[in-house]
Amino acid sequence: MANGSTAAAPASDATIAFELVCSRCGAKNATPGSDLSTRRRCPRCKAELAPMAAPLDVDAVALAAIVISARVPVLIDFWAPWCPPCRVAAPIAKKVAADLAGKALVLKVNIEQQPALAAEFGVRAIPTFIVIRDREVVKQHPGLAMPGTIKRWLATKMTKSR
Ligand SMILES: [Zn+2]
Repeated sequence: MANGSTAAAPASDATIAFELVCSRCGAKNATPGSDLSTRRRCPRCKAELAPMAAPLDVDAVALAAIVISARVPVLIDFWAPWCPPCRVAAPIAKKVAADLAGKALVLKVNIEQQPALAAEFGVRAIPTFIVIRDREVVKQHPGLAMPGTIKRWLATKMTKSR
């Protein structure tokens, strides 16, 4: 992926880490979900490790790990490969992820691979955008939406501190 964000295999202690790749030295830095939106230093070269700036494909385990610990609102783009409007939604999700790096996290759920997640969130049409804040679904929008609209959904501050 463009910014090198990938979901890594869950660690044996049942916590899950994601990989943020250092743009300077290429080091793969294991990053918990709670730190995907924060700025940190690369342990190897000390360059600033940019927060996640591209949509991340997730399964149920990765989604739960991020939602439980996220310090910022989370946007989920539910999509399927056979859905033409989803191909229109993809660059919109990408733009939101890039524009709101550090302020929101953007996840993608392929409902063909993750039908249980689609059912869990009551997704009946795709694309569907869902916004989660403080672990709660605060917005569910079936159909396309423009980046500016989605950014407004995500703009409201987190109410709980953690
Ligand atoms: Zn580095």
